[in-house]
Amino acid sequence: MRDVKENLAFIQGQIAEACERSGRNPEHIHIVAVTKYVSAERAAEALEAGIQNLGENRDDGLLAKWEVLKDKPLWHFIGTLQSRKVRNIIDKVEYIHSLDRMSLAKEINKRADKRIKCFIQVNVSGEESKHGLQPENTVEFIQKLEPYKNIEVIGLMTMAPYTDDEEVLRTCFRRLRNLKEEVEGLGLRHAPCHELSMGMSNDYKIAIEEGATFVRIGSALVGE
Ligand SMILES: *Cc1c(COP(=O)(O)O)cnc(C)c1O
Repeated sequence: MRDVKENLAFIQGQIAEACERSGRNPEHIHIVAVTKYVSAERAAEALEAGIQNLGENRDDGLLAKWEVLKDKPLWHFIGTLQSRKVRNIIDKVEYIHSLDRMSLAKEINKRADKRIKCFIQVNVSGEESKHGLQPENTVEFIQKLEPYKNIEVIGLMTMAPYTDDEEVLRTCFRRLRNLKEEVEGLGLRHAPCHELSMGMSNDYKIAIEEGATFVRIGSALVGE
């Protein structure tokens, strides 16, 4: 396996070029290292390389790494989250990328003892296998989160289809950005919605060109 440091340097170079192409500032792009495939030791390597954000998609995976790394990183929960698992992870995470239903919002609000930064997961591609709200239901859902004091809607998240077709990817990311701008425009106190969590190992460059502020990178950064 290659050095995380080398991988990170390569990815940062790619990010800088994507920012150059799209007139963006690389400082606005946050890398979340997705460590679900790798050991806690490998995750620690990512921290040594300068990564601050770690992402896990299962509660047991997050807990196992948390035992070793504690609160050195900022923890992101990026996967489908069952309501009954919320209590296992809620005091460890700063960010949840996969809020997509009211029952989950209720549970997060009830169990958290601080405001959790949440992304609303939207299924822009329309693939049946994907989780997330339908785009047309997203605004109403976000408006209904207003009473939940421990939830701050900082942005939207999506997973693009697994394809090399650049136009399909761009369309998907653009739809999420448009939706984000719509929510942002409402000026809701509980939902500033300035961020876009989109882009993974195979599509982060395109996601950045289309406005991503958080990219979730696993295999290309820490390995699989
Ligand atoms: C696994 C995973 C990633 C990272 O995937 P890679 O293709 O390895 O970069 C990003 N987001 C979510 C939600 C994931 O489950």
